[in-house]
Amino acid sequence: MIRQVKTTLRCSWCLSEAPTLITYMGDSIVKMECQSCGHIYRISKASLYSSILSQWETRALTKPLRLAKEIKNHPSRFVLSFPFRVLTKPLRVTKELAQTYIKS
Ligand SMILES: [Zn+2]
Repeated sequence: MIRQVKTTLRCSWCLSEAPTLITYMGDSIVKMECQSCGHIYRISKASLYSSILSQWETRALTKPLRLAKEIKNHPSRFVLSFPFRVLTKPLRVTKELAQTYIKS
């Protein structure tokens, strides 16, 4: 869920075009670090949590459709993996929440 992308952007602190490390949590940018001057721009926790809740809401609302597509496209894989996924879902959600809290 957390990934980093390196790109080149104009830094608003040192005003130079510099390599920039962007950290994403889901689809949300949580941090941008200028590799030239070291300036770090962080997204506020309120904005981050609002965005994450919105993403979770979308994921929850589209889950039945995604499961139906999976049943249609890969029925045997679905049948074999579903019980394990149901059992591990609380652990995966807890891990994602912990990562969100620690990284923000
Ligand atoms: Zn900079």
